[in-house]
Amino acid sequence: MSLAKDFARLINCKKDDIDEPILCNCLSCEKINNKKHPDFTVIEKSSMCSNNSCCKSSNSSAIKNCVVSENIISKSKFSPFMSNYKVVVVNQANYLTKVSAESLLKTLEDINSNFIVILLIENLYDLPETIISRCQTWKLNKISEKKILDILSESHPEKQKQILEIMSFGSPTLGEATEMLNDSIFFEERQEGLRRIVKIINSPMSDKLNYSKELTQLYRKDKERVLYELKIWKNLFRKILKTEDMNEDLETISIMSPIKKANKLGIKKNIQNILKTEDNLKFNGMPSLVFDNFIINLEA
Ligand SMILES: [Zn+2]
Ligand SMILES: [Zn+2]
Repeated sequence: MSLAKDFARLINCKKDDIDEPILCNCLSCEKINNKKHPDFTVIEKSSMCSNNSCCKSSNSSAIKNCVVSENIISKSKFSPFMSNYKVVVVNQANYLTKVSAESLLKTLEDINSNFIVILLIENLYDLPETIISRCQTWKLNKISEKKILDILSESHPEKQKQILEIMSFGSPTLGEATEMLNDSIFFEERQEGLRRIVKIINSPMSDKLNYSKELTQLYRKDKERVLYELKIWKNLFRKILKTEDMNEDLETISIMSPIKKANKLGIKKNIQNILKTEDNLKFNGMPSLVFDNFIINLEA
């Protein structure tokens, strides 16, 4: 998302010679930054169309056809209002409904050279082949933990301890790490999640099965939240595998310590178990069954 935004700024920037587009505060860059630019739109799952009675009642588990129609298909027919390019960014494009995705095909085919649609997606193959074949694909590699640590240390030299705490969760993305650094509630929630998970691993089967029920219920309401919880599980085990670089002074590490001494084979099995669980959910396994299986096969 940051890159998409910087890209939109760069191609619409009003200054002629920009060495540091990230720092530019011309009218266009400023407006894109504040998401107030008439030629820059971000579409998310929560986006609604302008018809008050249309989107209000529906839930936000998908990117709706009316939103796509209004923000991409209709807008593609007009020239940019105040800049060189109109840019529409679709965040989590895997949530486009089948109908929305299909309705986009013709627009993507006949697109004007001054209209740019950027689809952001974690896994390319969650997009229909028909969409992929009409786009350019840019693959972004994961930034190494060391690099993230360097970037954060440089931008927030005064928050060294907090940065180490955040990194000790294991495998954060740069966006996530920055968010945790700037929003202590997000950070504390993440730590709370970790405490809960450590407790569950060491609790009796009846408690574990209750947790499985909770996951099933939550999954019906908020898939994303459960997938995020599974990610905390996965990162926890991955982090524990790298025991050598654990710093006991950090709170995050001390939360993990009850399972620190577990055997490596067990931890690897748990990681496999989580990957399988994620796959089963993706391929529409029955959630209650998937989570029970996950819990029963968890190595204590
Ligand atoms: Zn600018
Ligand atoms: Zn609508």
